[in-house]
Amino acid sequence: MQIRLALPSDLPPTRDRLRTVFGPQRPEHRMDPVSQLIKAMLGARTYDEVTWAAFVRLRSAFPDWAALVHATQQDLEPLIDPVTFADQKARQLPILVRVILLKRGELSLDFLAAEPVDEALAWLMRLPGVGVKAAAAVLNFSTLNQRALVVDTHVHRVARRLGLTARGGDLREAYDSLMDQVPADWGPEQVFELHWLLKPHGQSICTHFDPACGLCALKDACPRVGVAGDQESRIIAFDA
Ligand code: SF4
Repeated sequence: MQIRLALPSDLPPTRDRLRTVFGPQRPEHRMDPVSQLIKAMLGARTYDEVTWAAFVRLRSAFPDWAALVHATQQDLEPLIDPVTFADQKARQLPILVRVILLKRGELSLDFLAAEPVDEALAWLMRLPGVGVKAAAAVLNFSTLNQRALVVDTHVHRVARRLGLTARGGDLREAYDSLMDQVPADWGPEQVFELHWLLKPHGQSICTHFDPACGLCALKDACPRVGVAGDQESRIIAFDA
C-alpha cells in the first residue's frame, strides 16, 4: 500500500527544499516546438550530453528540418550515433516529419499554443514514436511554454520514492498523478522549475542504484529513506 505523507510529498515544499540545493531554475533558451520534438526523440534513453551532440550534428546537416522527409536511415544513423537505438530513431525521424506535414500542411507545431494542454499532449502522442515525456517536453520546454511536467526516468524515480506517484505505474500514470498535484496557481515556469529540480536530484542524490539518503534535503520525511540497493531500482532503471 502506498503511504503518502503531508510533507514533503506536497510539491511546493519539495520544490523549496530542492531549491536550497540546486538554486532557482529558469529557462535560458527555448527552441521552437519542432526542434524540441526532434531533440526529445533523439534523447529517449540517452544521456543529455550525447543527445545534444547528436542534435547539433543533425541540425548542421539539416538546417531545414523539412529536408528530413527525404533522408534515409543511412543518411541519419551516422549523424545521430551513439544515441541509444540510433537505427530506430534514424528510421522514425523522417516518418515523424512526414506525418506532421500530412496532418498540418506545414512543419510547424505552433498551433498547439492555442489548444488546451491535455488536447495538445494527446495530439502529440498520436504522432509515431512520441510518448508522454517527449510530448510534455515539446509543450513545456519549447517556445510553446505550456503547463506540462516532463516526467523522465529521474523525475519518475524520485516521485515514486517520495510517494508522489504509484510505484508500479508507468510514465503516463506518473504524469497524470503529478499534474493533479501541481498547485493551481503554478504556471509553466513553475512546472519547468520542478522538473529541473527533481531531475538533478535524481541524477546526483536519489540515484538508481546508490541513493545518498544521508545527504538528501528531503530525507526527514521521505518514506523510502535508506532505499539504497533495493530491487525496485534495478527493475525500473531504464523505464524512461
Ligand atoms: S531520502 Fe533517499 S530515497 Fe528519499 S528522496 Fe532522498 S535520496 Fe531519494
